[in-house]
Amino acid sequence: MANRPYIVGNWKMNGTRALLAEARAIDRGAARAAGVRVAIAPPFTLINPMADAVQEIGVGGQDCHVQPSGAYTGDISAPMLKDAGASFTIVGHSERRAMHGESDAVVLAKAGAALAAGLDVIICVGETEAERDAGQAESVVCAQLQGSLPTGEDVAAKVTVAYEPVWAIGTGRVPSVDDVSAMHRAIRDRLVAIYGEDGAGVQILYGGSVNAGNAAELLSADEVGGALVGGASLTAESFLAIVVAA
Ligand code: PGA
Repeated sequence: MANRPYIVGNWKMNGTRALLAEARAIDRGAARAAGVRVAIAPPFTLINPMADAVQEIGVGGQDCHVQPSGAYTGDISAPMLKDAGASFTIVGHSERRAMHGESDAVVLAKAGAALAAGLDVIICVGETEAERDAGQAESVVCAQLQGSLPTGEDVAAKVTVAYEPVWAIGTGRVPSVDDVSAMHRAIRDRLVAIYGEDGAGVQILYGGSVNAGNAAELLSADEVGGALVGGASLTAESFLAIVVAA
């Protein structure tokens, strides 16, 4: 059976409890869009209250530590996310890779920690503008996949890949549908090389300046199984417009 389109909101470092009203409204809207799977990754502080406030949508983390516990001041572990009500976590977002120096090896370790805690993982990959201009976009993304995807029995079913060109995040610029299709086909080939036939079922999300106006077109590209949405996921109105477009 084909997967339902998967639309995930990444709230980044936005939101206090006042924003839970938007999550409730998104939850009600998601209940009316049964053909679409919807989730939000709020900041750590909102995971528990959001998990309590919603019924239809998944709630997840935006990152986790590689260790389950210990002397890591300020960090949050995967078992803590799970305990707070998360069912998944994002790892390897380009903002983590760039601002926190996270290498593929670190992203791989975080993905492993998440899986060990019983969480699904969304693993982000994507090239910079300079890499795309140099004709290296596919080789960069494939190397990130090779270095940061966890392997092992039954792992593929718990993994989602998000392709997010760094230059498209928060900029209002998006790649052409042809470029999205080409990259997503390359990612699919790599997933099948890594996971065998299970790789055919891994969902590949597009992320980077997705909004209500461009969602339908981006989601029509080859091998696009959903979207990872930043800015446009912060209000129910704009996020549900993307859910409806899916
Ligand atoms: P954006 O962010 O939709 O605001 O571009 C996407 C992301 O970083 O996941």
